[in-house]
Order: sequence, then C-alpha cells, then structure tokens
Amino acid sequence: MNAEPMNADPCMLCNTSDFRVIHQKKQWQYRRCLNCDLVSLYPRPTPREFRDNYDQYLPMGSADIREWKKMMQPVVDKSADLIESQSKTGKGKLLDIGCGYGFFLEEMALRGWQVQGLEISRTGRQYARNQLNLEVYSEPLENLVFPENAFDVVTLFYVIEHVLEPLALLKAVKRILKPGGFVLLRWPHTTPIVRILGPLARKLDLYHTPYHIHDFSPKTIKRLLELSGFEAIETRITGYTLPAQRLSRFASIFFGCMGEAFYSLSGGNFLLPGISKTTLAGFVGYMVERRITTPPIFS
Ligand SMILES: [Zn+2]
Repeated sequence: MNAEPMNADPCMLCNTSDFRVIHQKKQWQYRRCLNCDLVSLYPRPTPREFRDNYDQYLPMGSADIREWKKMMQPVVDKSADLIESQSKTGKGKLLDIGCGYGFFLEEMALRGWQVQGLEISRTGRQYARNQLNLEVYSEPLENLVFPENAFDVVTLFYVIEHVLEPLALLKAVKRILKPGGFVLLRWPHTTPIVRILGPLARKLDLYHTPYHIHDFSPKTIKRLLELSGFEAIETRITGYTLPAQRLSRFASIFFGCMGEAFYSLSGGNFLLPGISKTTLAGFVGYMVERRITTPPIFS
C-alpha cells in the first residue's frame, strides 16, 4: 500500500505526518510512521465511543472469568516476583490501571501490598469489588485526584495499547509515583507478526480493530516513556499468557520460552520481536537492575 502524506493527526511521538497503511478493517486503518515506526489507528474513536466500547468489554460468565484467570496467571506470578525483586521501598502502595477482574491486585494484596485499582469496564470492576473485595475506581486516571508521590508502583497490563492519550496517561502516572518508585507496562508487540503473516494477519485481525490505538515496539515504548518524563527505562521478556484455545496456547508457550531463552542467553540484549514485553521505568536514583534468570526450558 502507498505512503500518504497526511496533515491531520501527526504521529504522537515525532510529530511528522508520513505514514504507510499496514492493516485495514472497514474504515479503520493502522498506519506506521515512516519516521519513528510507531503504529497508530486512524481515525481514532471519540472519547465517548471509547468509553461505550469498554463498558462491557470483559465477559461476565463464570467460565470466561476462570479462563481469563488461567490465561493471565503466569504473567501475574512473574510480574509480582519482578516487582518485589526491584522494589527499593519494600511492600508499599500499588495502583493497577485497567485492573480487569482484579487478579493481579489480589496476588499483590496476598503478598502484603496496599493495593488499589482502576477499571472503566463495568463488568470487570464489579467482579473486582464484589468478589475480591478490592478498592477499584471507575474513572480514568486523568479524572482522579491522587496526591503527588502516592504510589510506590503503578502497573498497566495490556492497557497502554488501548488508551487514546498514552502520553497524558504516563505523565499522570509519573506525577503520582514516589521518588524511587516505578511503572510496569505489559504490552503486546503485534506488528512483527502482522508483517510475517501477511494476508493471514488481516483475517486474524491481530490489532483487535479498533481496540488497539497504538502498537509499540521496544524503541517506541522507550520514546513514549522518555517524552512522559521517565529516565531509567528497560524492556524485558517476562513470561507468557496461556490462552484457552489450544493452538494459541501452544504458540504462546513456544515463542514465550524461546523469547525468554534468547533474552537470557544474550544477557538481556535480545528481545524476540512479536511476543509480549514488559517495560519497567523510573527516574534518576532508580536504576533498573537486570536480573536474568534461567528460562524454564533450561532449568
Ligand atoms: Zn513518528
């Protein structure tokens, strides 16, 4: 497809307007910035459409919820371990933005952290409040008034690709983090798979059009965090999800283990394209230490 100069909606990261369309579904296009490689959705849903899309985004059936928990469990466990290994302030206060049903918060509360969540999907929020007794806000962070330096850790699991204004959100996150605190972002890295699969990727609609507003890479997520005021930024390969569907589960385990192995063997330098990644970011005084552990297939 052709590169097209567009004046409207320049790239969020580099402010240029040369894009190449790499995926299209109905009126929605995913465009790659020819300058910085950020992939973004065009046109974007309005804030109202966005809110309506998510109100019942998470399924409420008990079988669906059990499946969801199983799928996320390895990521929940590994992320909790990673946070505890990196936290310099001990077991402090944690905010999970887009906490879904609250399973990660439940784990951190069990480990002795003071936790709060934020979830705009009513179905997820109700479960977290009523079944897990968690404190969960219904508004986006930008609408809430937290004091500065309120949290030791803020987490966003599979959220940053969904939000309309990730820069504004991460600036707000930075404001509520204590000095020495950090943010953990878990995000999908879809574009390399779209490239490899070609026409099949169009059928599979891997961007969940129009739910993913951006698709990040290690380079673009770093730029996003720098523009938001973060300084110590490191992306890792940490665990994989376990989808219920057998082929997806196999692919997730296979490529997840491969990604962890390459990451470990390269001393943390090689990030296998296409699989989900975890990025930690803090400020001066907070330095992300690399703690490479042997991946499961080698232990
Ligand atoms: Zn750009």
